Amino acid sequence: MTANTYDYLIIGGGTAGAVIAARLAEDPSLRVALLEAGPSDEGDPRVLRLRDWMALLGSELDFDYHIEPQARSNSAIRHSRARVLGGCSSHNSCIAFRAPDGDLQRWQAEGAAGWGIAECAPFFQRLFEKVHLEEISDGNPLNGALVKAGVQAGLPQRSFALDGSLDEGVGYFQVNVKDGIRQSSSVAYLHPLAALPPNLHILTDTTVTRILLDDRNRAIGVESSRGTLYAEREVILCAGAFDSPKLLLLSGIGPAAHLSEMGIRVHVDLPGVGEHLLDHPEGVVVWESARPIPGPIVQLWEVGLFARTGIDPDPLPDLMCHFGLMPFTWHTEPAGYPTAQWGFSLTPNVCRARSEGRVRLRSTDPSAPPRIDFRYFTDPEGYDERVMVEGVKMARRIAAQPALAGWIVRELAPGPSVQSDAEISAYVRATANTVYHPAGSCKMGADSDPLAVVDSALRVRGVAGLRVADASIFPSMTTVNPAITVFMIGERCAALVRGEA
Ligand SMILES: Cc1cc2nc3c(=O)[nH]c(=O)nc-3n(C[C@H](O)[C@H](O)[C@H](O)COP(=O)(O)OP(=O)(O)OC[C@H]3O[C@@H](n4cnc5c(N)ncnc54)[C@H](O)[C@@H]3O)c2cc1C
Repeated sequence: MTANTYDYLIIGGGTAGAVIAARLAEDPSLRVALLEAGPSDEGDPRVLRLRDWMALLGSELDFDYHIEPQARSNSAIRHSRARVLGGCSSHNSCIAFRAPDGDLQRWQAEGAAGWGIAECAPFFQRLFEKVHLEEISDGNPLNGALVKAGVQAGLPQRSFALDGSLDEGVGYFQVNVKDGIRQSSSVAYLHPLAALPPNLHILTDTTVTRILLDDRNRAIGVESSRGTLYAEREVILCAGAFDSPKLLLLSGIGPAAHLSEMGIRVHVDLPGVGEHLLDHPEGVVVWESARPIPGPIVQLWEVGLFARTGIDPDPLPDLMCHFGLMPFTWHTEPAGYPTAQWGFSLTPNVCRARSEGRVRLRSTDPSAPPRIDFRYFTDPEGYDERVMVEGVKMARRIAAQPALAGWIVRELAPGPSVQSDAEISAYVRATANTVYHPAGSCKMGADSDPLAVVDSALRVRGVAGLRVADASIFPSMTTVNPAITVFMIGERCAALVRGEA
């Protein structure tokens, strides 16, 4: 073995990548390298202290991607993507949900053979044995008032169980945190780094710029900021929903017309690479609080609700709201809405948004950010917009309940002058944000699906020795926050590679 040759090269030490590396290295006969663009998170309180997660947004540990101008939404949305070991699990707010059974059934129906309820259950179980979860306690009186107001508005109070069920209700989130320290994939699977087995090399500050294919389209290695590295068995791409398609495109795997336009030699014409980009678009209603926001505070977004608007025939809820112990005015203030010293927010989001976007190359320079166009609120039937309008109405109904009466001075945004559906829609679209859940841009699907990038064993079509395993392979959006499902994809990928699944 030479120093730059491994059995498995894993690109991206993020949520899924760290899980896969740790699991593959359990077999001491395998030589595994995990290549991460960012630094280590170990011992870095900026990353590990969950309470401070919002300070990481736009920081040096964030790729902080801008999006293309949006025809029907806020073009100022910025997509945070962590550039650090643990990836977005080192940066996120650690709200923990698993894909409900209905989502997995839909994945199977969409062509992800073998990703049904029974097949995924053992892999959720494996990660729950590694990743510590806690339900937020009911100690914060403002969180308590919101939950009570939700019940007064007609929703049942729920514990959000991680057993595959999901129904309408309001309650305290589960979070992957322990003693205030986030339980990211790096914390749960890799720390302490000094105790990792010798067959696992974690190469931080290593950016992969291209996947190398031989003349029979077999992935044999990567070019990186550390030079060329070789994989004798497989390359596993885990760079996330923006950077995984970007790396495939830079490597000549993608829609032939786009590759040719960029002057890149076409190795494999794979039309789905970068297509089918999904997200949870988010709106916001903000109130001024009559008094300072009380503690205790774990990560500021600690309770929430699911509801059915009646617009979507799917039995799963189609609307989710997070409740923020802060006036979340990032996009409302620049639009001219007032803010306040003390405030709180409800952020409705569309659980299974139907607008689809696209990731493309901006340049053949690997350091250039990709072109990311979500096309928010462009689904032909206006579904996303209608669910969002109902979400704002639901948020206002909750705020009008007696349990919150003593807390509210006034609605800051959109404010009482915005009432008709058309006015609410225009407000929401102008001030929209993201829940930071991009997915689907290298989707898994059946052979008959022309846009499927990977098969149900996560193998890239038309390329040998190359898999993708991260949020980009989602066949469709999970109704819930996706991180735990991405951990599960990591567990399942490792088992597939080892021939166990
Ligand atoms: C601010 C924020 C808050 C969120 N909150 C929640 C939440 O509370 N609950 C929830 O369920 N979900 C949440 N999410 C979403 C969730 O964290 C992500 O969906 C999930 O972590 C994505 O995992 P991944 O493996 O696909 O990608 P990532 O975890 O992003 O991993 C990709 C890794 O690849 C590395 N990389 C990229 N390009 C290269 C390259 N060329 N060479 C080498 N390495 C590279 C990156 O540095 C990164 O470490 C949040 C996301 C963000 C950004």
